[in-house]
Amino acid sequence: MLLTDQLLLNYKRCRRRTYLEVYGNRAEKDPEKEFLLKLKKENQLHITSTLESLLLPYQKPDGQDSFLNSQQTQELMAQGAECIYGGSLYLSFEQWQDSIITKNDHNSFDAENIAFLGKPTLLIKIPGESIFGDWLYFPINIKLGRRPKPEYKLIAAYHAQMLAAIQGVLPPQSELILRQQNSYQIHLEYWLERMYSMVAECVAMLMVQQEPEVFISRQRCSLCSWYSHCYNIAKSQQHLSLIPGVTPKRYESLIDMGLDSVESIAAVSSERLGDKIGKSIALFLKQQTQSLLLEKAMVRADLKLQDLPPSSPIELYFDIEAEPDRQVDYLLGVLFVDRIRNTKKFYPFLAEHPTEEAQAWKQFFEFVSLYPEAKIFHFSEYEVETIKRLANLYQTPQSSIKVLLSRFVDLHHLVTKTVILPVESYSLKSVANWLGFSWREEDGSGDQSVCWYDSWLKTQDRTFLDAILSYNEDDCYATYHLKNWLVDFLEQSQQK
Ligand code: SF4
Repeated sequence: MLLTDQLLLNYKRCRRRTYLEVYGNRAEKDPEKEFLLKLKKENQLHITSTLESLLLPYQKPDGQDSFLNSQQTQELMAQGAECIYGGSLYLSFEQWQDSIITKNDHNSFDAENIAFLGKPTLLIKIPGESIFGDWLYFPINIKLGRRPKPEYKLIAAYHAQMLAAIQGVLPPQSELILRQQNSYQIHLEYWLERMYSMVAECVAMLMVQQEPEVFISRQRCSLCSWYSHCYNIAKSQQHLSLIPGVTPKRYESLIDMGLDSVESIAAVSSERLGDKIGKSIALFLKQQTQSLLLEKAMVRADLKLQDLPPSSPIELYFDIEAEPDRQVDYLLGVLFVDRIRNTKKFYPFLAEHPTEEAQAWKQFFEFVSLYPEAKIFHFSEYEVETIKRLANLYQTPQSSIKVLLSRFVDLHHLVTKTVILPVESYSLKSVANWLGFSWREEDGSGDQSVCWYDSWLKTQDRTFLDAILSYNEDDCYATYHLKNWLVDFLEQSQQK
């Protein structure tokens, strides 16, 4: 069995994913998402542009097979190549075990049929003593992320460890180059210890072929190719991770208490549950499970009157399409609702090219300023953050922005503060679908919108822009329907 750096990176994010990559049925994997393919392409472009800016002449092994590639890499190291790009490092089980600096019960294991493979982006030659002569190598990994995430640091330590086995000496450093080409040195001593433990745990899981339990976490699972497979299992098991508010830590507490079903959580006393997971979350979880069992919406037990949604004769429903990583907000969509005349009209403020963002912002700002009394409803914190970012960027007076933001109403906040719904998540899509609303673009999502925008920029085919506009307009309409439903529901509840 080959333990690759990619398997280890996945292991840090989700153990089950590593298990499925090794033992899962590939036919059950989802096709790779367009957004993920886009990220991969961007990562490659980032590596290419970083290499150009580093001005380092490099040599590249051309072996297609990882083992052949690792032999070529080692030959280049022995010859003293200044920089090796796209190389592979390969270790047998014995080489791995022999090179571990601190051996203890946590990082030792017996798995002779395991070999190790790592693919650092670059190997850089520096002066020093190694089995090759008076030089040695340290690894650099080039990543598109903004932050030096723990999984990146663990893999950087893994590559350093592999180099220690191959060149006979641990490199003094292991580096990450992230987005905007800022470099980051990892604290090797610290991360090596953690990496040893992770490798030992991962090997143990793979050796005993123990399939980790499914746990659906929107953030972690949304881009995973095993999502449909895992979701179907979770659904068939009525897994607790499908209940909003059940985090991995709370899940452990619930299982410790013997609460392994929606029914058991609904039935347990709030006091007993509160002692374990905290009073307010216990109250929420109990109501959430009751709502799921009865399949009906409920007013939150802790509702405060000031949480009721405001209304105004003119209301604006606002949603943004953006590529946050590139800091481009390419569509500021507004649904104008005149409650007196009973009319609605959608106004898209679109940057057909990223350079037109300023113009879209100016038009949006002028438009919303025409209706100073109108409340502006949106469904996340992102809209408020974006208004602040655009105002700063395009030097809109702070006093005007303060007034504008005072009109903003975050409907996601209002929904989660006032009602409990029989849904798996409080995303706009999930909540609006439950209300019976459907989007014209069936495969639409924020990520898909980014892919459409990219395709529009590349092809100038307006069908991509039309898809973005229709998706954004439907987001605004979904927010509008949700607000209407919420007002009606809360009013009816008060009359009871
Ligand atoms: S879908 Fe989620 S639980 Fe399943 S393998 Fe992927 S990340 Fe893990």
